[in-house]
Amino acid sequence: MTELVIWAEQRDHRLLDVALEVLQKAQDLSRVLQGRVSAILIGENCVQLAEELVEYGATRVFVVENSKLRLYQSEAYARIIAQILKDIAPEIVLIGGTTIGMDLAPAVAARLRTGLTAHCVDLFIEKIGGRDQLVQVVPGWGGNMMIQIICPEHRPQMVTIRPGVMEKGKREIGKKGEVVFLKPELSEEDFQVNTIEYVREQRGENSLDDAEIIVSGGFGLYSAGGFRLVEELAVALGGEFAGTRPAFDEGWIPESRMIGQSGKAVKPRLFISIGASGAVHYTTGFQKSRVIVAIDKNPKAPIFNIADLGIVGDVKKIVPVIIEELKKDRPL
Ligand SMILES: Cc1cc2nc3c(=O)[nH]c(=O)nc-3n(C[C@H](O)[C@H](O)[C@H](O)COP(=O)(O)OP(=O)(O)OC[C@H]3O[C@@H](n4cnc5c(N)ncnc54)[C@H](O)[C@@H]3O)c2cc1C
Repeated sequence: MTELVIWAEQRDHRLLDVALEVLQKAQDLSRVLQGRVSAILIGENCVQLAEELVEYGATRVFVVENSKLRLYQSEAYARIIAQILKDIAPEIVLIGGTTIGMDLAPAVAARLRTGLTAHCVDLFIEKIGGRDQLVQVVPGWGGNMMIQIICPEHRPQMVTIRPGVMEKGKREIGKKGEVVFLKPELSEEDFQVNTIEYVREQRGENSLDDAEIIVSGGFGLYSAGGFRLVEELAVALGGEFAGTRPAFDEGWIPESRMIGQSGKAVKPRLFISIGASGAVHYTTGFQKSRVIVAIDKNPKAPIFNIADLGIVGDVKKIVPVIIEELKKDRPL
């Protein structure tokens, strides 16, 4: 039987959406391979989450419960997961590319002496050299090409997927599956680095998740004298502001508001992109938005290929006019 495994990240006794997204993707792949999907769940008192994973389609859930593992512990989690994977010997392992997943996945891959492809935007199975291979798609070369990566010799084939990039499946209440409780020994060595608490980012780490309207700015704002216009337009529309990687690098936005392959993936009703060229690394993060509006002075910027409505011009001239009109409509 071909084994596929996902790591189901939970926080505060809640499964993260990305865990259900990778679970659904694993099921899609397992249908092609005629395999079965198992999930690994670590935490404290998380048995009801195991049932939820079964209802979302996991055939089997390995549960490791321990009060010392309530919060993510880098070394302990990596060692436990690597040991479970050694025992199951899966073909494929999918991990949500959260901040924690990005720490965990390489540590596990190194212990298993296998490769890891970070931030895949698509995955599919193809027979190459007589063997089923997981084709791992990532934007590359400055976002101008989609690169297909395979891991032909080593197993498991491991990838991370950013939250929001895949779709989660439907829950089937009452569905039955196998829940296996494991009790690995923990030693002091597992806690040389110790997570003591999670502290929420002040500016609302998750404020983009449910936002209906997002205004996102790119490096084009540099010539416009900074990010102020983006924030003002977001306020005028009653939405949230966000930005590209250069906007983060300039210190205009916190990392939690960076959109794209290595940032957030969002699906608002309205996404307005201002002064951003439209590299695939960036557009991957919002391409599923209902309506996309782009403002850029370069008529050939790739952002216009994805936009439903494009405005060519200088942000300094266009954005203040829109804000003025909105203020007339709805006084701030
Ligand atoms: C592995 C990897 C991962 C990456 N992950 C991400 C990611 O998650 N998110 C991300 O954003 N990037 C990411 N990048 C970087 C990405 O490839 C691009 O470099 C980046 O998105 C470009 O940002 P930008 O559009 O703000 O800047 P630029 O490409 O410099 O575009 C600026 C735009 O502003 C316009 N402009 C300039 N002045 C004005 C003006 N006055 N009025 C109107 N328009 C103006 C220009 O015409 C141009 O189109 C990643 C890169 C790599 C290699």
